This record gives sequence, structure tokens and C-alpha cells, in this order.
Amino acid sequence: MTVRTGRDFLGIPGPTTIPDDVLIAMHRPAIQIYTGELVEYTTFILDGLRKVFRTDGRTYIYAANGHGAWEAALANTLSRGDKILVLNSGRFAHNWGEMGAMMGIEVETMPGTWRDPVDPAAVEARLKADAGAEIKAVLVVQIDTASGVVNDIPAIRAAIDAAGHDALFMVDTIASLACMPYEMDGWRVDVSIGGSQKGLMTPPGLGFVAAGERALEAHKTADLRTKYWDWTEREGPLHYQKYCGTPPEHLLFGQRKALEILFAEGLENVWERHRLLAEATRAAVSVWAEGAALDFNIIDPASRANSLTTVRVDEAHGVDKVLDYALAKCNVTVGIAIGELKGKAMRIAHMGYVNAPMLIGMLASVDMALKAHRIPHGSGAIQAAVDYLGEAVPA
Ligand SMILES: *Cc1c(COP(=O)(O)O)cnc(C)c1O
Repeated sequence: MTVRTGRDFLGIPGPTTIPDDVLIAMHRPAIQIYTGELVEYTTFILDGLRKVFRTDGRTYIYAANGHGAWEAALANTLSRGDKILVLNSGRFAHNWGEMGAMMGIEVETMPGTWRDPVDPAAVEARLKADAGAEIKAVLVVQIDTASGVVNDIPAIRAAIDAAGHDALFMVDTIASLACMPYEMDGWRVDVSIGGSQKGLMTPPGLGFVAAGERALEAHKTADLRTKYWDWTEREGPLHYQKYCGTPPEHLLFGQRKALEILFAEGLENVWERHRLLAEATRAAVSVWAEGAALDFNIIDPASRANSLTTVRVDEAHGVDKVLDYALAKCNVTVGIAIGELKGKAMRIAHMGYVNAPMLIGMLASVDMALKAHRIPHGSGAIQAAVDYLGEAVPA
């Protein structure tokens, strides 16, 4: 017996639900790549990215996933043997650092837990101890999609300043861009990283980098530059050079439409929608947690991300059967956990193109799964989410 025939619900932290209008915008023949319409698409997206990153700096589009954008950031600003400090809070900063190590960068990782954000005081202390200014860049993710933590980027900026250190500050916003406030220039971030397939509501395949003045200055002497990633090459006069080859046309068709959807809603409204849906999710999880088998992964309530919620499930009960049930019976795909949390947690994404009925439907399907499998949980979780939204979204 199932109740699954109907729309697909994708509640994983990337790729996210693609709006029908974005899919429709992509459904067209290829066009020529040297002049005309496609050039306007490129200009629109490069400008649109400045608006979402909140920067007057330069933006670059790569036919790559987020990992490509990570590599682009390092290759354009650093040299062989340079040292970087990676601030870990789950998995993603660590993996970014690993890419650097293979490129010939000396990587120091500041260890973190999978349950807490990066500690700015520890960053300040480490940078103060770097009297010889050996550390050339500090890398961090705004939202770590493995743990579900949000790092306090302005506080980390303040820690770098308090240490009087001039390392480049690089922030991965792949799981937070257009999901929560981000102010590249306001927070004096030197390099920002984004990707098409999360808050930006487009299929995977575009990696974005924004570079501020200090990063562009470092670029001049960086020796890890290669033709494909190179910013200077991409500033060349030919449209073809913006992509170092054939532009990923259909992804550009989709990404432009997705940016138009975001700007029509208004970026601040998009952030607020994410905050409201995240709070509703947290209201539901708090009720589930009364049964003592489920709990928030992130301990400090203020450090729980607005784009996904990582929920621990006591291993004695098993989380896989919850996810299997949600998919098999309700056609809802909730995220499995990765790394250290594999088999111990689920990741409920509320990222990108998501509204209240989608979220409540997904939460209710998880609630059904908990009931069907007799996993102890407080009852009334869905009502708590609805009650929250009914108050927070006034008539
Ligand atoms: C998804 C994600 C990545 C990786 O992006 P890919 O497109 O899979 O390479 C990197 N960082 C964060 C924070 C992410 O959420």
C-alpha cells in the first residue's frame, strides 16, 4: 500500500527542486555562441551574481560544479608552497582544503566538531601566532551541508581583523547563497564561491566565483594559474573566453530565469522565506525530539542553518528505514547523512524553490514514517510547524 502517486518532492540539500519556468527556459534549440543573445545572457548572469553575492567585485562563471569553483578560487590567487588555514565545521571546508593540498598548497586545518560552528576566538588566536604571516588565505563555508551548521562569517572577519592578519578571506556560500544574508563587500570577503544547484534553483553544472580587489591583486602574482580557471583569460575581449570554450548554453538559459525569479521575489524576501521555513522545521523537530530518539545535530540553536536541518536519529532505531518509507510510500526524498553522521542522521533540506505546502508535506511524510516504524517521537510536530507559520506569517 502506498500514497505516492503525485508530484515528486525533493528535500535533499542539493540539487534542489528546479522551478518549472527554469526547465521551460532550457527547453529550446542551441544558439550561436559568439555574438547576440547569448552575450546578453552572460552579462545578465554576471551582474545578477554581483547582486546575490552583494559585491561590486568581479564575477566568473565556470562550466563546473562547486568543486570546480573551489579549484578556481585557489588557482587564481595562490602559489605553490603557500600556506592556507582551513576552518572545519563538518565536511566541506576540509574537502576544499584537500583540493589545495593536491595543487601544492600547504594546508593547515583547524579541527572542528560536527556539532558546532567555527570558533572565531580560536581563529584569532591562531592568526595572532602567525607572526611571520605565513598563512595566505583563510577558508570557511558559510553553511556546512554535512553538519547543518551556519558559521558566523562577520565574526570570523572580525577575528581576522583583531589578529591584524592580512590573509585573503575565502567563503564557500554554495549552500547559503540566496538562502540567508550574505554581504561579500560589507563583510570584506575577498573570494566567494557559489554553485547553480542549491539556492540558485538551476541544474548542477555551473560554478561561480566572485573576487574582490585584494583577490584580484593576489591574482597578478599567483603561480597556480592555469588557462581554464584563469581570471585574466576570462576577462579577454571574446565572449568565448568568458567560458574558456563553448558556453554551457542551456544552463545559462536556466540560470538567468532562476535569477529573474529570485529578483522578482526580492532577495531579502527570499532570505526571510528560508528563515520562516527553517523555523517551522525546527518547531517540528523540537516536538519529535520529545520522544528521545531524535534530536538536532547542531547543539546551539542560533547555529542551525536556514537551508537545511540535520536531525540525529538514535542508531538503535535506524534512520534508513525512515527515509526509505518517505520515498516508497510518499514520494518524498529526504537527504541521507554523510561522513561521520552516515546512518545516524537525516538532512531535511528547505533550500531554494520551496514553499510552505512543500515543506509541511515533507515533514508530514517523515512524521508518517516515524509512526509507521514505531520510532518514539513527540506527537503534534506538524501542528507545531503550522502554528509557528500561522503566527509568523500574519494575515
Ligand atoms: C554542495 C556543496 C559543495 C559541493 O558542490 P558540488 O557542486 O557538489 O561540487 C561545496 N560546498 C558546500 C557548502 C556545498 O553545500
